[in-house]
Amino acid sequence: MPSLTRAEATARAATVDVHEYEIDLDLTAEGDTFGARTVVRFSTRPGASTFLEFEPVSVASITLNGAPVPAAAMDGERLHLSDLAEHNELAVDAVMRYSNDGEGLHKYVDPADGSTYLYQHMFINNAGRILPSFDQPDMKASFKVSVTAPGGWLVAANGPLVTGREGRWEFAPTKPISTYLCSLIAGPYHSVTSEHDGIPLALYARKALAEPLEAEAPEIFEVTRQCLDRFHEIFHIRYPFGHYQQAFAPEFNFGAMEYPGLVVFRDEFIYRSAVTESEREHRANVIAHEMAHMWFGDLVTMAWWDDLWLNESFAEYLGTRIASEATRFPDTWTTFAMQRKAWGLRADQHPSTHPVAPAEVTDTDQALLNFDGISYAKGAAVLKQLVAWVGDEAFLAGVNAHFEAHAYGNATLADLLGALSAASGRDLTTWADVWLRRAQVNTLRTEAVREGRAYASVAVLQTAPEQYPTLRPHKVGLGLYDRSADGAVVLRKRVEIEVQATGRTEVPELAGEPVADLLLLNDGDLTYAKIRLDEESTAAVPALLPLIDDSLARAVLWASTLDAVVDGERPVAELVTLVLAALPVESEVVVVEDVLRATRTLVDRYSTPETRPAALELVAQAADRLLAVSEAGGSRQLAAARGLIGATVDVKRLAGWLEGREVPDGLAIDADLRWLIVYRLTVLGAADTAMIDAEFERDRSTTGEQWAARARAARPDAEAKAAAWESIIGDTKLSNRLVEMTASGFWHAEQLDLIRPYVARYFADMPEMMRVRSGMSAEKTATYAFPAIMVEADTRRLAAELLASDDLDPILRRVVQDADDDLRRALAARF
Ligand SMILES: [Zn+2]
Repeated sequence: MPSLTRAEATARAATVDVHEYEIDLDLTAEGDTFGARTVVRFSTRPGASTFLEFEPVSVASITLNGAPVPAAAMDGERLHLSDLAEHNELAVDAVMRYSNDGEGLHKYVDPADGSTYLYQHMFINNAGRILPSFDQPDMKASFKVSVTAPGGWLVAANGPLVTGREGRWEFAPTKPISTYLCSLIAGPYHSVTSEHDGIPLALYARKALAEPLEAEAPEIFEVTRQCLDRFHEIFHIRYPFGHYQQAFAPEFNFGAMEYPGLVVFRDEFIYRSAVTESEREHRANVIAHEMAHMWFGDLVTMAWWDDLWLNESFAEYLGTRIASEATRFPDTWTTFAMQRKAWGLRADQHPSTHPVAPAEVTDTDQALLNFDGISYAKGAAVLKQLVAWVGDEAFLAGVNAHFEAHAYGNATLADLLGALSAASGRDLTTWADVWLRRAQVNTLRTEAVREGRAYASVAVLQTAPEQYPTLRPHKVGLGLYDRSADGAVVLRKRVEIEVQATGRTEVPELAGEPVADLLLLNDGDLTYAKIRLDEESTAAVPALLPLIDDSLARAVLWASTLDAVVDGERPVAELVTLVLAALPVESEVVVVEDVLRATRTLVDRYSTPETRPAALELVAQAADRLLAVSEAGGSRQLAAARGLIGATVDVKRLAGWLEGREVPDGLAIDADLRWLIVYRLTVLGAADTAMIDAEFERDRSTTGEQWAARARAARPDAEAKAAAWESIIGDTKLSNRLVEMTASGFWHAEQLDLIRPYVARYFADMPEMMRVRSGMSAEKTATYAFPAIMVEADTRRLAAELLASDDLDPILRRVVQDADDDLRRALAARF
């Protein structure tokens, strides 16, 4: 769809008051299209003109207030209307096209049984691919949906079902919601239902996933109930959208989407193979995240996409918090410190960095690009800091006042800050200016001066990047950790201080305090900053980190260590040594997984072709040692096995596992672990096409199809690479997920000579790929297909040449700019 500008949106909202959409879809035809009859009721000032977004294949009729609208009213993907009455009724009967990129009405055929599944995703500007609409967040309306569908299908929408006889489904009109929140699923979905506190609950997944859905339903319902109860405790307005349905759909672009009354998740969340506790924690977090959106986003919606953070930062903060407070996963903040903040920090240091709350988002294209680690993770980290700053009581009072003032309407950053300032009695103007309106991140560093066995003085030094010189106030914890007689490392004392928005803040509370074995800055992870310890503490990390009891403290230390390697301050070889020493005793699964994943990536990119094999071998050894000491059948065992499979070059051992030989006790070599092994064997040249095909025969499923696509792209064979590349660039029959899997399987440090020609191809071919794919799918494909492991001056030269062209697609420009910046760091660290 063409991008909608903010100026157009403002003018349209001032002209038109939209009341209701009546949509009647006919999903019975075979092939690529479906029928859509829509009635839109809206009022305006007589004589006015406006437009609706609309992208039909063909139109049978368009009438306005009973009179035909001339064909010339369709201009590209907009339907222009003029000479409007005060009250208007637009009626359109059209044929529309299904999509395979996850936007519009996505059609998917399950390889397991040939069944067709549909889900609707109108975000961010794709409503016109289904119906004529005023597609912007501040033009809320009621949606009344009816569907004619093949027999045996299940159809669900935002509103409750009114009548559902075989093949015909009619839903009650919704409360006023934004276009991007209108939701629908259709297909032979399997369902499980329940109820809690007067709220009907339902879960849906493909019938091929019926068995795992039934198995997972008790935990999903339990988390859902716990989170609903907790939100009802902290919010004054009860859940406002009637029933709470959660659908798990194939090839969904996001983790999930917060449609009121019918949340849609990617169906990888319905586990068919063994998963770790951290994966279950992640799912609980996503459930809580989407539920938070029912208030932040759905009940009170941003007026325009510049306040996207009001949606995502709040949902990320509250999702992490509520999952930790209400479910059996108390350590979500450890995951946040380890994983999510690293995502935010990386995005914030890229050339494309932007403020959490940008002052101006000119159009929907730019809005889509802001769906990044800044809007989610940095925003949530900043909110955590805000809660530490104003106190939780004032924070919740302000948030509740905000909901009450704007329920079923739209609001802006200024509205929210007003409510929070009133509740806290603290003027947040300055705070918001430095934290929300200015990009980039500060570095906080402890300076500890010793005098004998006590601190003469302790100070926190704050710096900012040259181009972004803002210093900020930070509320931070400082933890003093000592090695105890029995070898553990325990917290002796913790102080919370307010670091001033200056270069140096003294900590008089610690003067005269006995020296700690490790002085941890940002203990408790209250603030968002790059953290560097004093010299003695840094030197003590390798010996002490494994012995610290508190997983959040370990996460802060690991995150700081990994960040220093990314920055080239410390060599990757040192990281690998630390991993070998600390990982086998690490008890927190998410730390194991994240350290293995991050180290693996850093080894591929920060070591040279000469040093890489030895570094990788040490990573494999670390995973192997952990595997040897892990409890049979436990999460750590699975995390260790996956880490080992990803790093080892011992093809004999891997092939043996596939055949059930010398498998560690309790480790299930199930469908997904088999694919991980087959994939690794493929990368190493020890699996051929026949083996991949045989595995797909054995596992003819959605996941199997995706793994097979990834494995075929990974084959160290010139023909396989050529075929994969052609698919990535131009095969529009390939769905969003299959393209992503193909692209993510393409580049391997093990295959440098074979893939080197594709470095130039990337920069030559990607503009064409951007022309045939759109939105999020295009962005992901461009990202996965980037030659990130070709850490060479030549790659940077080609990137610079592409970036110099004027008419580069803005999505591709951002992907290449940021990926090139990662190359710059890696190159500098290597030589
Ligand atoms: Zn969200």
